[in-house]
Amino acid sequence: MMKALTYISPGVIAWRQIPKPKLIKSTDVIGKVVATTICGSDLHILKGDVLETTEIAQKDPKKGIVLGHEAIIVVEEVGSSITKFNPGDICIVSCITACGSCYYCEKNLQSHCSGNEGTSGWIFGHEIDGTQAEYVRVPFGNTSLFKAPKGVSYDKLLMLCDAIPTSYEIGVKNGGVKAGDSVAIVGLGPVGLSALLSTKTLNPKQIIAIDMDDQRLELATKLGATHVINPGKVFASALTNKVMEYTTDLIPGREPGVDVAIECVGVPSTFELCQDLITSGGSIANIGVHGKSVELKLQKLWIKDCKITTGLVSANTTQELLDKVVDGSLDPSPIITHHFKFDEFEKAYEIFKDAKNTKAMKIVLTP
Ligand SMILES: [Zn+2]
Ligand SMILES: [Zn+2]
Repeated sequence: MMKALTYISPGVIAWRQIPKPKLIKSTDVIGKVVATTICGSDLHILKGDVLETTEIAQKDPKKGIVLGHEAIIVVEEVGSSITKFNPGDICIVSCITACGSCYYCEKNLQSHCSGNEGTSGWIFGHEIDGTQAEYVRVPFGNTSLFKAPKGVSYDKLLMLCDAIPTSYEIGVKNGGVKAGDSVAIVGLGPVGLSALLSTKTLNPKQIIAIDMDDQRLELATKLGATHVINPGKVFASALTNKVMEYTTDLIPGREPGVDVAIECVGVPSTFELCQDLITSGGSIANIGVHGKSVELKLQKLWIKDCKITTGLVSANTTQELLDKVVDGSLDPSPIITHHFKFDEFEKAYEIFKDAKNTKAMKIVLTP
């Protein structure tokens, strides 16, 4: 048996005893979890927004489904097809499980992996038991785990499971951020701050950070934002004007506006704001998970020759980002605000849910 944080029905989770996972397939790895975290998508599940997860949980209410898709593990047992890892190895568990050989994995779009036990590359804590437990079974270990280098803290490594790759792939890479660019980041939660950190590794000229919380803006300045704006303190049009002012005369002949606007909130107003901020030839890279339709101002956008992108992380840049963490050009640890022990899981969820008051960003849980 082991302890795990399981989701039972909307609003109901429990830290409880359930059977310890076993190897099922030759491509499986069993890992002892040494650090894990809670993500915004766990809260979506908890609210009952993710119907398939609720359905799976209710099939076995005595157990439920273990939440979580981010962890650092010590490999305990490996299936007979595992060639890259041995018991005792410390590994980063990717939020995306990739078989490595299906149509989508071949296209480097592992988020849609069809060789999996679920319906996409996101199966942990969604369609199979996740990582918020003492032990986890990792399918397709060879292509879904990354060996942790020595001397890097679990805190830093944990940010490479989801937050940093998501912000880098869906924000920075999709947006095409390059050296010398002007970049706006709208929303400075864990993913927005991760976007800031990974943007910075590409040496943009400006990073304009926009958020309603002054404390987050202060942190953004410390982490490398060149300008900060609190939309709660200026009128909407004044906000756009400020961005235009900051981006005027960056290069002779260039129109004001940012080259890339990265949306990290997921509500209509922030996406609509991004459309007002970009210069001609600019990009809007949407990371936020939207629950409602947004207004697309095509009548203004077409003549800007702009690009709009969005997506689900494929976690195919994890090694590249890990190298940046090792060489020191990327340090994700300032995003971590709280540490808890496993038996404080329920409390950790309360703190994470109430981020507005608790100022929680990323929470690390250890045994
Ligand atoms: Zn996540
Ligand atoms: Zn696949």
